Amino acid sequence: ARASLVAETTGPGATRDGHRVPLLANVGGPKDVDAAVANGAEGVGLYRTEFLFLDRSTPPSDAEQEEAYRAVLDAFPHGRVVVRTLDAGADKPLAFLPPPSEEPNPALGERGLRMLRRHEDVLDAQLAALARAASGRSAKLQVMAPMVTDAEEAAYFAAACGAAGIDHPGVMIEVPAAALRARDLAAEVEFFSLGTNDLTQYTCAADRQIGGLADFQDPWQPAVLDLVAIAASAGVPCGVCGEAAGDPALACVLVGLGVTSLSMGAPSLPLVRAALSRHTLDECRQAAAAARAARAPHAAREAARTHLTALT
Ligand code: PEP
Ligand code: MG
Repeated sequence: ARASLVAETTGPGATRDGHRVPLLANVGGPKDVDAAVANGAEGVGLYRTEFLFLDRSTPPSDAEQEEAYRAVLDAFPHGRVVVRTLDAGADKPLAFLPPPSEEPNPALGERGLRMLRRHEDVLDAQLAALARAASGRSAKLQVMAPMVTDAEEAAYFAAACGAAGIDHPGVMIEVPAAALRARDLAAEVEFFSLGTNDLTQYTCAADRQIGGLADFQDPWQPAVLDLVAIAASAGVPCGVCGEAAGDPALACVLVGLGVTSLSMGAPSLPLVRAALSRHTLDECRQAAAAARAARAPHAAREAARTHLTALT
């Protein structure tokens, strides 16, 4: 008999045998928060703050930033809110932060934390606004940097957070070098969040903006799964906030690889919640092992699904 997957819109994320996996939402601003709450998000796993900075030639004022951050924190008084500092450059160009020179390969250029290090005033203003927004709030604020490559950058970011009075610094793992040396980065920060969109782009050397390279932009690529496994075993909590987290089968595989929370576009939450609740942690681990043993993305998906029988 074929069991069909019925979406579940409430309840905390957990496997069938009770292994907790917080299910969080990706938001691009206060407007996405309603959908996150409606779909039972336990908090925010990725707040893409660059949306605040788009379409303008000057950064938002300190007060404007503080207000936007506070709105998201207030929506989850008992949850956590993971805010990403500005990820300017490459696929997210911002008019007031142009690259220092013409870049033939912007995805390999100055973006994310690399950009903020050249504009420390922008980073410091953002961290200060976040600290003010969180003050007196019950939500747990965690702040992470995008496009981090090595432990030195992680240490730089942790120090900047400390100076601003932000207690829980983290880094995104979206560069293969960072995943391979995850233990070094784990010594500097409190948590990781895997950006599987960029991690896939960089692992497979396939620009995420080039439509014809879709096969290489598939997070089921076994090489990507290998890197997830390395990052998830480095000793700090390791979430996923890339699109991969919103695929019910892949979400189970990610949990089987050791990922500790999943953050996705709000509409994906009910199906991922249902998929997890129908499989044990052991089944997720078996699915993960089968996927990693495959040699191609479609084969990895097929192999995983033989262990995720409640999905079919
Ligand atoms: C990612 O790269 O997977 C990610 C979550 O960040 P963005 O898509 O905003 O680059
Ligand atoms: Mg990214």
